[in-house]
Amino acid sequence: MSDRTMDTVKQLSVRLASGEVSAVELAQDYLAKIQAANPALNAFVELNEAQTLIEARAADALRAAGQAGPLTGVPIAHKDIFCQTGWHARCGSKMLENFAAPYDAGLIERARAAGLVTLGRTNMDEFAMGSTNESSHYGVVHNPWQLDAVPGGSSGGSAAAVAAGIAPAASGTDTGGSIRQPAAFCGITGIKPTYGIVSRWGMIAYASSLDQGGPMAHTAEDCALLLNAFAGFDTRDATSLERAPEDYTRALDAPLAGLRIGVPKEFFGEGMSDDVRAAVEAALATFRTLGATTVEVSLPRSGYAVPAYYVIAPAEASSNLNRFDGVRYGYRAPEYRDLNDMYAKTRAQGFGEEVKRRILIGTYVLSHGYYDAYYLQAQRVRRLIADDYRAAFRDCDLILGPTTPTVAYGIGDKADDPLSMYLGDIYTTSVNLAGLPGMSIPCGFGAGGLPAGLPIGLQIVGNYFDEARMLGAAHRFQQATDWHLRTPPGKPT
Ligand code: GLN
Repeated sequence: MSDRTMDTVKQLSVRLASGEVSAVELAQDYLAKIQAANPALNAFVELNEAQTLIEARAADALRAAGQAGPLTGVPIAHKDIFCQTGWHARCGSKMLENFAAPYDAGLIERARAAGLVTLGRTNMDEFAMGSTNESSHYGVVHNPWQLDAVPGGSSGGSAAAVAAGIAPAASGTDTGGSIRQPAAFCGITGIKPTYGIVSRWGMIAYASSLDQGGPMAHTAEDCALLLNAFAGFDTRDATSLERAPEDYTRALDAPLAGLRIGVPKEFFGEGMSDDVRAAVEAALATFRTLGATTVEVSLPRSGYAVPAYYVIAPAEASSNLNRFDGVRYGYRAPEYRDLNDMYAKTRAQGFGEEVKRRILIGTYVLSHGYYDAYYLQAQRVRRLIADDYRAAFRDCDLILGPTTPTVAYGIGDKADDPLSMYLGDIYTTSVNLAGLPGMSIPCGFGAGGLPAGLPIGLQIVGNYFDEARMLGAAHRFQQATDWHLRTPPGKPT
C-alpha cells in the first residue's frame, strides 16, 4: 500500500467529528490548494471564497449545536451543470456566461442539507457533450497525471480536481459515461446511479432520459457516503423514483464469497488496448482471490450502443436546447435585424461547434421522413440492449469490464475527429440506455508519458437499485489494492 496520506471524505468526516479541524479551516486549506494548482489544471471555473466560508461557518455552527451529520463540513466541488444559488451555472457554454440560477438543484439542496461545503464550480464540456473537456467555452482541463493529456469528459473538471487533491469529492453527471469515463482517465472512483435515484431537477438537461447525477471521489466508501446524501425522491422531477431511503454503505463490508461476476465477451474485442485488457484481467483475478467467481456472459447487441446513443442523445438535446433563444436565459447577440435574426445570431454565437453538431443531428433524426429510420430504430435498439442486460443478470450479480478502451489521450488528438471520440464511449453508453447503475474504479496504469503511465478504470455494472452491492464489491477490491491511493506528481499535500 502507498504510504502517502490521502484525504478521503471518510477521513475528513472523522477529523471534523473529533474537533481536530473545523469546516472553516478545511475550506481555507482546500481553497489555498486550489489557488496553487488550478492555474495549471483549469478544473475550477468559478471560485467564491466568501460564499464557501458562509457555508463552512454554517457547518461549524451546526456541529456546535450538536446537529452535525457524517458529511457536515466536508468540502465538495460541484459540476457547473447544477443550478445553485450564490453561484453561476454556465454549463461550459458561452450561452450561459451570465446566468446565475435563483434556486438550488435537487442534488445541491441535498448536498446542502447534508452540510457539504461548496469549494467551487468545476469545468465541463459544453452542455455535457464531449469526452475530453475540449468543448468547454472556458478552456480545456488538464489531466493531473500528465498535463498534456485530456481528463475525460464531460465531468473532467470534477475528476481532475479530485485526482489532483484540490477537492476531496465532487458531483458529476453521466448521460453516456461522463462520471465513469473521466473517473477512469483521472484514476478516481465515480458512480452513476440507477436512472431516477438522484433528482434531475435543476440539473441543466442534455438528454433527459439518460442524464443522471452522482458522486466522484477517491474511494467507493466515499461514494457510498455521498450517494446517501444525493439520492432521494423529488416531486419536481417527473422521472424521480419514489422509494424508501436506503443506506448505500450497508454492504461495504460484505464478503465477496459467492459473488458471481459476469464478464461480457463483447467488451474484450477489437479497439481495446493491451494495457487496459491486462489491467482489467488482473482485477478480475483479484476478485477471484477475494472469493468471487467469474462467468462469461454475452451482451450481443452492445455493439449498437454507440450508434443508438448518438441518435437518442442528440435528439433529446435538440429539444432541450431549444430554450436557449436569447430571450429567457443568458447570452443574446448584440446586433440583429428582427426577432428571427436575433434567435439565429444568438444561437450561432452562443453555442460551440460540438453543440451545434448535436442539435443538427438531433433535428435531422427527429424530422419527418427520418424519424422512423433513425429515432424509432434507435429506441428499439435501446430496448434490446436493456433486454441483453436483463438476460445476463440471470447468470451473475455484477458485470465487470473496462470503462474505456484506452487510457487518456493527448489534448487535441481527437478534437477534429468526433466519430473516433464517440467510439471511446463504447463500454459506457449501453449502461445509460438500459438505465442501470455503473461505476468506475481505478485498477492499474497503462501507457503514457509518465514512468507510472496513465490510470485505467474498471467498470462495475449492477442490476437496477443494486448500488450497495456494487459499492461493497468496489470497497473490498480497494481494501486489497492501492490503485485508488496513488497520487499524481505534484499533488499538493
Ligand atoms: N461522451 C458522451 C457524449 O458526448 C457522454 C457525455 C455525458 O455523459 N454527458 O455524449
